[in-house]
Amino acid sequence: GFMSSAKLTDILARTFGFSSFRANQEAVCRATVDGHDVLLVMPTGAGKSLCYQLPAIARGGTALVISPLIALMDDQATKLSQLGLNAARIHSGLDRERSRQVCREYLSGALDFLFIAPERLRVPGFPEMLAKRKPALIAIDEAHCISQWGHDFRPDYRLLGSYLPALRPAPIIALTATATPVVQNDVVAQLQLQEPARFIHGFRRSNLAVEVVEISKPKRSQLALSLLTPKERRPAIVYAPTRKDADTLAQELSESFSTAAYHAGLEPDHRERVQREFLAGRLEAVVATIAFGMGIDKPDVRTVIHTALPASLEAYYQEIGRAGRDGKQSRTILMHSYADRRTHDFFYERDYPPVDELDLIFRKLDGRPRHREELAELLKSKLDGEIFATALDKLMTHGGARIDFDGNVVRGDTGWRQPYLSQSNQRKAQLDRVMRYAESHQCRMAQLVRHFGDEDDGRHACGQCDVCSPERAIAQRFRPLDENENS
Ligand code: ADP
Ligand code: MG
Ligand code: ZN
Repeated sequence: GFMSSAKLTDILARTFGFSSFRANQEAVCRATVDGHDVLLVMPTGAGKSLCYQLPAIARGGTALVISPLIALMDDQATKLSQLGLNAARIHSGLDRERSRQVCREYLSGALDFLFIAPERLRVPGFPEMLAKRKPALIAIDEAHCISQWGHDFRPDYRLLGSYLPALRPAPIIALTATATPVVQNDVVAQLQLQEPARFIHGFRRSNLAVEVVEISKPKRSQLALSLLTPKERRPAIVYAPTRKDADTLAQELSESFSTAAYHAGLEPDHRERVQREFLAGRLEAVVATIAFGMGIDKPDVRTVIHTALPASLEAYYQEIGRAGRDGKQSRTILMHSYADRRTHDFFYERDYPPVDELDLIFRKLDGRPRHREELAELLKSKLDGEIFATALDKLMTHGGARIDFDGNVVRGDTGWRQPYLSQSNQRKAQLDRVMRYAESHQCRMAQLVRHFGDEDDGRHACGQCDVCSPERAIAQRFRPLDENENS
């Protein structure tokens, strides 16, 4: 149905307290209110949530929101409740009685928003419950999680493909900050979006000076320290490749300013405390592995440093995007050398064995279930233990083998080769892409914008990256003298 501009602006002001739409938000809201499926790709912090929340209010009824993390759900639901809306969530952290109560509220139509994690759909009876009272709108947050070509694939997202049709005819809006054109198409296909309106915008960050510097590994911590010593370059996030690197560098930096490490090896309580202290401004730097930052919104991060080459441009873009959310001038520095490439190649070869090695296992499963150990034993002259484990794992992921009721490995479908090969190639391509980025002599921002297929961007040079403006780049200036570039 038709809804006037004035009506949308009115909801924007009354319910959300905002005086105007940001770039593109109005067009997205209009398409969604009108009942079109929508694919929305805008970077983190651009204001995607409003693009499903406002249409949900405008359409009335309950909006069903799929979200991958409890923390993200809690954050959104709390914000909506503060605006006076009825937002509930169901997740594993909720006791049974409370979940039942939320279901009752959903069925009575009292909820404006219901947040769920995709794995909820596995709970017997839950999808049927949802289908009894269909939502007026379905929002899929972090929609790239459905695609194995993305950098954060979550197999549970795949459940959406089979369960969403029963919840139609509500429009579906899929939201993500990180989707290359390949991932975008995959999201559309997996979610079965019907002639979706696509909005892919806002990837240029004009307040970020992006730098790449080639430097050997042993010199990187010294450079990081020099870069962060001036107070105005903090708060800062430093991404390190391993937990050990994160611990060591955090220790070194903390001699000069308050710094903590953050990685998956630390207790959840401790991690939460680090995150809180950083948000509150009591920590000036966090040295993190990739586990840090999803869903955190600290506006005044002045510097983001990568002390090693990231695994993909998507991950890198997300991570540098945590700088300068407040719009003020900020800086990002990526350190790399040829040694990073060798490290990535090493992990790639370990994680993606040649298809022949998977095939050895597949052929051994000739109609007879075998215990895993027995299978490993049979193949031990051809596959060493670790390679066997990886290869079997990949084979199972792609349906070439599965575990039967007795816990034995049995042969699966023959169709596993193609998906395995394309995933392996895709991973290789992501690595090549990020390496090319680091080694190229084109404007960094223009490369990033192009990579994401941004629609409304002139793709012009940014004027402030290390390529456009080498005289303003700071990392080169501090770069310690380096004899051996390949170490
Ligand atoms: P995303 O999901 O794209 O990362 P969010 O939806 O979390 O971004 O929005 C980021 C911030 O921008 C939030 O604090 C939100 O309140 C704010 N915001 C969104 N739209 C507007 C607007 N039209 N005017 C002012 N602030 C906005
Ligand atoms: Mg978001
Ligand atoms: Zn540039």
